[in-house]
Amino acid sequence: VRDLEKRFRAQKSFFQAKQYVHAVNGVSLELNDKETIGIVGESGCGKSTTGRCLLRLIEPTKGEILFQGRDITKLSKVEMNKLRKEIQMVFQDPMESMNPKLTIREILSEPLIAHKIPKAQHVELIVKTLDLVGLSEKHLFRYPHEFSGGQRQRIGIARAIILRPKIVVLDEPVSALDVSVQSQILNLLQDLQEELGLSYIFISHDLGVVQHIVHRIGVMYLGEMVEIGEKEKIFDKPLHPYTQALISAIPKSDPDEVKERIILTGELPSPSNPPSGCKFHPRCMYATDTCRSAKPEMREVEGRKVACHLYN
Ligand code: SF4
Ligand code: MG
Repeated sequence: VRDLEKRFRAQKSFFQAKQYVHAVNGVSLELNDKETIGIVGESGCGKSTTGRCLLRLIEPTKGEILFQGRDITKLSKVEMNKLRKEIQMVFQDPMESMNPKLTIREILSEPLIAHKIPKAQHVELIVKTLDLVGLSEKHLFRYPHEFSGGQRQRIGIARAIILRPKIVVLDEPVSALDVSVQSQILNLLQDLQEELGLSYIFISHDLGVVQHIVHRIGVMYLGEMVEIGEKEKIFDKPLHPYTQALISAIPKSDPDEVKERIILTGELPSPSNPPSGCKFHPRCMYATDTCRSAKPEMREVEGRKVACHLYN
């Protein structure tokens, strides 16, 4: 992904000047084969919009999205629909994207019909995929409401992998689940990655949730990537003050471990009226006059990329 931008028009009334909300502002990232990258940040930072742009569920305003060398932002609707076989999405609440009147069998048939998989193969594929996500044939003729939240997310995952895609974009896939169920789903995702050779983009507001499953992490703030790199490097020594605050907020499993939690002061500013210079400056304890006037560029520092004037 290169310099991805998404602007939404926000016009409150006919008499007001047109306003644009920069939901995503110049995001770049790479995803390697069989890799998981976590995209983290507070709600409203543009992470879901980024994820949806990758499948063109939302049309990006600018930028390139290269998949195996092809810029998918340039594909026709027909070509893009074909490519959706390779890039799939799992949502936070699978119920929202499932027709409650359809059985599991029908729900899982939909992508097969859309991609013209011969009918003779449907049942076998569906049963095999259910088995992969830990559900069985006996669930085939049940309806979504008959399942628990965790099981429904397994169905959501089954629907995403039934066409054997290369990439799955997971948008807060465990945020609505109990902690014990969360870890089951995270384990399942890891097993599926190994078995099917998947690459994941794992979107979450909670760094604690993604920390065990991701290989690399990208931290977003108000539509921009502020730090991105290998998980170990970022956890050992977060450089961006916002990353430092996010990491300090993760509860530690060892109660004796001393750590100081960095409390962020101030609210997340409105994306329609973002602060000048570094967008994080109103909440940053290191902010200087330079930070208030000049936007920091992404640069390579200590083996990762970070956008902060402290490292110029
Ligand atoms: Fe803080 Fe300045 Fe770095 Fe922004 S550029 S995070 S305000 S130190
Ligand atoms: Mg979101």
